[in-house]
Amino acid sequence: MVTSSMFDGERYWGEGARTVVIDGDIVSDVADGDQSSFFSCPGVEIEHVAFLMPGLVEGHAHLFLNGGELDTAVRSAYLKSSVDNMVGVGRRNLQLSAEAGVTLVRDAGDRFGVNHILRAEAASSGFPLPRVRSAGLGVRGPRGYGAFMAREVGDLTQVSEVIGELAEESDDIKVILTGIIDFEAGAVKGVPQFDVDSCRKIVETAHSAGRKTFAHCSGLDGIAIAVEAGIDSIEHGFFMNEEMLVAMAEQQVAWVPTFSPVDFQWRSPKWCGWDPNTQGMLRRILDQHSRQVALAAELGVPLVCGSDAGSHGVPHGSSLIDEVEFFSKAGLSMQTALASATSVPRRLWGEEPAGPVKQARAELVVLAASPFDDLTALRRVEAVIMGRNVLRPGRGNTIDEITVKNLNAYRPGG
Ligand SMILES: [Zn+2]
Repeated sequence: MVTSSMFDGERYWGEGARTVVIDGDIVSDVADGDQSSFFSCPGVEIEHVAFLMPGLVEGHAHLFLNGGELDTAVRSAYLKSSVDNMVGVGRRNLQLSAEAGVTLVRDAGDRFGVNHILRAEAASSGFPLPRVRSAGLGVRGPRGYGAFMAREVGDLTQVSEVIGELAEESDDIKVILTGIIDFEAGAVKGVPQFDVDSCRKIVETAHSAGRKTFAHCSGLDGIAIAVEAGIDSIEHGFFMNEEMLVAMAEQQVAWVPTFSPVDFQWRSPKWCGWDPNTQGMLRRILDQHSRQVALAAELGVPLVCGSDAGSHGVPHGSSLIDEVEFFSKAGLSMQTALASATSVPRRLWGEEPAGPVKQARAELVVLAASPFDDLTALRRVEAVIMGRNVLRPGRGNTIDEITVKNLNAYRPGG
């Protein structure tokens, strides 16, 4: 196919047409100019497009949760529903992600194992579904926060056993290090669940099992422990500071700042019962978060876009685009913001490169215009290409109809 402009994961090609040739699951060639008379892409009936970029990576999501459900009573009741019901919700969330241009989702955990089921489905279905990296259950300290998504590690003697078991099924090991944020007080609740030695032991055990680690973590106490313990990625990381960022840049610890859930609470205080004071606190937290993200980019901390989709008010798919916009509004270049949602996470996680690059995976997003000219172009997805599968959002061939038809053919778990 021929594109007027493109982003290859690192660099923007704004001038002059480029021809991108897809052969099965691989981009077999990228050439200057319009070479459409020489090359065609069998199965991909898209000839001339305005803008091409790699399939997006959602760096932090909870597929089993519908983030668009705002009623907290309905959300609580849902957690008591059947796993089958949750798998259905997760499938719909994967579809929403695909329609937004996402081709790889890192699921950051659920206790029901819905993420593992969806990973198997997405891999075996042959449909244009995003691939799933699944963290399964996380690990947490005794009696700490996170019972809904983590296994308990009571003391250091249990680390090998618990991590060993988790590593068999989980692509990443999630460490629940700190509790949630008390927005009224503007601080993190409780103390970190692990000290540096325990956290290091978890990280080292996970690494020797070939697994990356990420920490659910906000507040300086927790961030300092995670960084010192050699964690691979800090998720959320509210109340960040420069000292931590310098250390993270030095060790190349990634940061997934997940603006979206806090932004929702700021935007929609009535759903959360916040008074104007708390709303003001939320604004200050978000502004300080933005400044830290800008500083992180300047210092060379690997930044990853992840929306925490599934959280209250954070729907799958569109929220990742919100996250790219938060990066952009924080002052990051479009190049850096988009790299954080494409090439950076793939590289950090040891995934194969994808996008309009020779020999990369043919996971591509076609947009109606270039986001380098107009940020809103990110929401105008014309097609999502996953090898031979092409999804055209809003133009039939939705995953729903295909999945329902074929559901019994590949029921996972067997
Ligand atoms: Zn999360």
